[in-house]
Amino acid sequence: MILLRCDVVVVGAGPAGSMAALSAARAGAEVILLDRRQAVGLPVQCAEYVPWQLAEHVPWSPDCVVQRISAMRTHLPDGQVVETSGRGYMIDRWRLDQHLAEAARHAGACLLLRTRAVEPAPGGLLARQHDREARIQARVIVAADGPRSTVGSWIGSDHRGLLTAAQCTVALDGPLATTQVYFDPAYEGGYGWLFPKGKVANVGVGLKHGLRAKDALRHLLDRLSITRDRVLSYTGGLIPSGGPLERTWQDNVILVGDAAGQTHPITGAGVANACLCGSLAGQVAGRAAVKNDPTLLEGYERQWRDFLGAVLAHATARRRFLDAHWSHDRHQLSTAVRQSWIAFPDYGKHLRSSNVLTPQAPVE
Ligand SMILES: Cc1cc2nc3c(=O)[nH]c(=O)nc-3n(C[C@H](O)[C@H](O)[C@H](O)COP(=O)(O)OP(=O)(O)OC[C@H]3O[C@@H](n4cnc5c(N)ncnc54)[C@H](O)[C@@H]3O)c2cc1C
Repeated sequence: MILLRCDVVVVGAGPAGSMAALSAARAGAEVILLDRRQAVGLPVQCAEYVPWQLAEHVPWSPDCVVQRISAMRTHLPDGQVVETSGRGYMIDRWRLDQHLAEAARHAGACLLLRTRAVEPAPGGLLARQHDREARIQARVIVAADGPRSTVGSWIGSDHRGLLTAAQCTVALDGPLATTQVYFDPAYEGGYGWLFPKGKVANVGVGLKHGLRAKDALRHLLDRLSITRDRVLSYTGGLIPSGGPLERTWQDNVILVGDAAGQTHPITGAGVANACLCGSLAGQVAGRAAVKNDPTLLEGYERQWRDFLGAVLAHATARRRFLDAHWSHDRHQLSTAVRQSWIAFPDYGKHLRSSNVLTPQAPVE
């Protein structure tokens, strides 16, 4: 058994974890960043759309961007189509993740790949790399280990809702500048998407019933007349949809990103929130570890909620509304979507927020 010591151990080198490791290292902490994967960011489990403002908030590399997006088209179940402005980027997600992990390493964090956090241990955690075990002692543990957070389970946290997504990458006939979103009674509790990325597009469906995800994807491909020979690869994954956890810190553990439920419960977008909350988590964890004062961790909960709490609470309420009004009647479902999807004025009616990532006004 190997014994490693550090100030902050970050579990998960996705956007939340790498941003946390970067800011903790910048705060002067000794940081270990570990991930069970062989390579950061691979395999990609993402539709790869991010809002344009993200570039201003993370150490971004222009080669992450594949194309710009100007607008979003929402296809309602009753056949109506609404276009809203929605500037953003389609990115190579693996490049972004690798870039962020490299920035954390450059700031001094030690990156351990193929290393899985398996159980809590006195003063830290136990990690496994192949058949070797390591005990990692740390003053603070940052749980950035995704929607089914192992570290979160150690402190009894549990998501209130997860959507299952099935997605494929398909060849496109020609370039597209808008993302396409499809609501249909068959995609219960979620929606389908086609996000163009240069010569290809990510086409996927996220919905409540995991077992129906592949059928729903086939349904969407048929609807778009995309034949099997145009499918280049498949992926999928889980998306938190129940809103943030009630508590995102306990003792010396803080949760961030999908592990904390900071994903937008209506859109399922989580990359930007993971980056921004990861950065806050790392600053607070670094400071708490350097000063050896775990009570400072409480500040993380306050800071991220000040910034994002109202946006996510509003989206959670809209998610509950949409779930409660889901219907197999196309007109009733369209009415419910108009009241709860970000493209429509009703969505923002009661939302007062200066959050930089708030969706823009519709241009119906
Ligand atoms: C199909 C799909 C499409 C999506 N499309 C978009 C989109 O277009 N735009 C958007 O903004 N969001 C999208 N999302 C959501 C987005 O991908 C997530 O919100 C985002 O990845 C959250 O980042 P994270 O760092 O919290 O978690 P993750 O990116 O999931 O990173 C968690 C990391 O922890 C590691 N890990 C897990 N357990 C352990 C362990 N025990 N020990 C060590 N390491 C561990 C994992 O290997 C992983 O690298 C999509 C999600 C899915 C599934």
